[in-house]
Amino acid sequence: MIKFCPQCGGKAEYIVPEGDHNPRAVCTQCHHIEYENPRLIVGTLPVWQDKVLLCKRGIEPQHGMWTLPGGFMENGESTIEGALRETAEESHAPVTNLRLLSCLSLPFCNQVHTFYLADLIEPTWQTTPESTEIALFSEQDVPWHEIAFRSVEWTLKHYFSCRAKNEFSLIDKTVTKPNW
Ligand SMILES: [Zn+2]
Repeated sequence: MIKFCPQCGGKAEYIVPEGDHNPRAVCTQCHHIEYENPRLIVGTLPVWQDKVLLCKRGIEPQHGMWTLPGGFMENGESTIEGALRETAEESHAPVTNLRLLSCLSLPFCNQVHTFYLADLIEPTWQTTPESTEIALFSEQDVPWHEIAFRSVEWTLKHYFSCRAKNEFSLIDKTVTKPNW
């Protein structure tokens, strides 16, 4: 909810501008329209031999749950650059050979989560304030009941299903409900 205009600081109110179909934050002083759009989360699924790398979250939301390294894409970078940056920031794990694996819409929280399958160059990493524990898991050891986000669960399940068939594809679906 935007209360003030980012251009002039004037009071904003939500109205449907002429020719539009959704309410927008419109400045009552300079009439600037501030559009609000989904945010993109980018990350990787790093693989080493038959194992996947997961990070235990040291921050909210979902503190203490396991996730893939990822985070908000920054202006001025590509999705691959963002995924590499977030992987480095959250795990310091060296990854290469990124291939798009999942593109999941989360309309309930206005986000899109996208993950790249990546090869771990060597099984090294460092914990960070964001990731208090990092480990490799084989499919049967994945802590499925402690996965932080449904998009991460779907991405992992899709990966293991592709691997079983030795046929990799992109999963493009909509997550309709949060899991917390
Ligand atoms: Zn204004």
